[in-house]
Amino acid sequence: MSQPQPQPYTDTQAVGHHIAGRIQRPDGSRRQTVWNPATGAAAREVLLADAATVDAAVAAAQAAFPAWSQTPPLRRARILNAFLGLLNQHRDTLAAMITAEHGKVFNDAQGEVTRGIEIVEFACAAPQLLKTDFSDQVGTGIDNWLLRQPLGVVAGITPFNFPVMVPMWMVPVALACGNCFVLKPSERDPSPSLFMAELLKQAGLPDGVFNVVQGDKGAVDRLLVHPDVAALSFVGSSAIARHIYETGARHGKRVQALGGAKNHLVVMPDADLDPVVNALVGAAYGSAGERCMAISVAVLVGDIADAVVERVAARARALKIGDGLQDGVEMGPIVTAEARARIEGYVGLGVEEGAQLVVDGRGLRVPGREGGFFTGGSLFDHVTPAMRIYREEIFGPVLACVRVPDFEAALALVNGHAYANGVACFTRDGGTARAFSRRVEVGMVGINVPIPVPMAWQGFGGWKQSLYGDHHAYGEEGLRFYTRQKSVMQRWPEARAASAAEFTMPTAR
Ligand code: NAD
Repeated sequence: MSQPQPQPYTDTQAVGHHIAGRIQRPDGSRRQTVWNPATGAAAREVLLADAATVDAAVAAAQAAFPAWSQTPPLRRARILNAFLGLLNQHRDTLAAMITAEHGKVFNDAQGEVTRGIEIVEFACAAPQLLKTDFSDQVGTGIDNWLLRQPLGVVAGITPFNFPVMVPMWMVPVALACGNCFVLKPSERDPSPSLFMAELLKQAGLPDGVFNVVQGDKGAVDRLLVHPDVAALSFVGSSAIARHIYETGARHGKRVQALGGAKNHLVVMPDADLDPVVNALVGAAYGSAGERCMAISVAVLVGDIADAVVERVAARARALKIGDGLQDGVEMGPIVTAEARARIEGYVGLGVEEGAQLVVDGRGLRVPGREGGFFTGGSLFDHVTPAMRIYREEIFGPVLACVRVPDFEAALALVNGHAYANGVACFTRDGGTARAFSRRVEVGMVGINVPIPVPMAWQGFGGWKQSLYGDHHAYGEEGLRFYTRQKSVMQRWPEARAASAAEFTMPTAR
């Protein structure tokens, strides 16, 4: 049975903010065009918040905090549960918004919404998740237990490539813990955040608990120094992640800043070729390579290299590229013309650096969508670690193949890279797989799994320049990020009679 055609998202109203439960479009705001990447047409505008608008959102969150933080976790969870129902009901509307502004193909957008929904499902267990440890009788008549309390107003700054999933890495967990939230989504695909704010309101979330400010660097700069923002979660490119981490920390905030990536897939000589080729093609060219977990380097070990390059090249040439709303399309456009120019610039750079360009995706025109921001899948062979196309994040459908002689050389290559978000190893040997997962210096590892994005209860995060801060996103680490631990030690009056002033360090008796 064929799937019903997705309804395109065509609203032309300017995308505003959602503050204190109301959509706001202040007069005289700066604005920016939001493009439809598949057609190249200006679809709508987004308002860019100034400092006063950011301050209004933070004030709304601050005002809502006393009541929300005192709301029992079970009642907070019930609101998240109602939100979950609405997300399921409007899943395809959200997916169509993603395709309209990001460009990724519709079923990939549906997958993104599903991964976001899974974090909401996780956060619905708030009462269980916030349970803490209790130690009875740590000394005679004394008990000691922990509280996990919310931080206050927390802010999230999110990238364009997952306009639903990445906000959902933060928002449900933060709200479940009793915080109030200000989200600053990417200005390139701002509509889904506003829609999610409306769904949260419909679900019964009190006004001010969740706010959206649209904007760019200006809005972020204000959030970074705002005295009432207790914590910042950032996801985006590494240069900005580091700046956010350092500036936020200097202003007394708790910060987690997830950065860029250059993910390797190591192909051992014993690996089955069919799954390897499928994994490389899907993980390098899916979502036009605009995923922080995309595979952008194939590390080909030993004499398997020629066969892998030949087969991936054939598949890259045959990719079905077009408007993400059309049936059978495997890869959509790049998010903006500017991003496409950057990606195609890197392809030119690789040629200058001496890599062998096996498939050249530059200059692709899609019939009927001539104005769209398309580029084809590109494939380089004989890339070396000194080349910029190896060292730098391209964030597009460009796969670089590096040939190495053996397992140790493959491991050394991966461990020598400045980014360390995700990595995969394809092999049929259990010993190799075990050694790889234990010795590789990367935050998320896949064994015969190309894109090992951890589940909602496991937590997501890279190492090195792929994450600044102490905590990974969502899962147990997310709960820790969004709460402060308090230890309570208590003794009741009947025990007091036996006590006297003590001048030495208390020890259990
Ligand atoms: P980006 O860094 O350009 O933007 C991210 C956010 O920062 C946006 O909200 C943007 O408005 C804001 N911003 C942009 N310039 C800023 C500045 N100078 N000062 C302050 N804020 C600024 O990233 P992007 O292009 O939207 O997203 C792609 C990047 O995100 C890639 O590098 C990708 O690897 C990374 N990413 C990482 C992860 C991860 O989990 N590690 C996940 C998704 C995306």
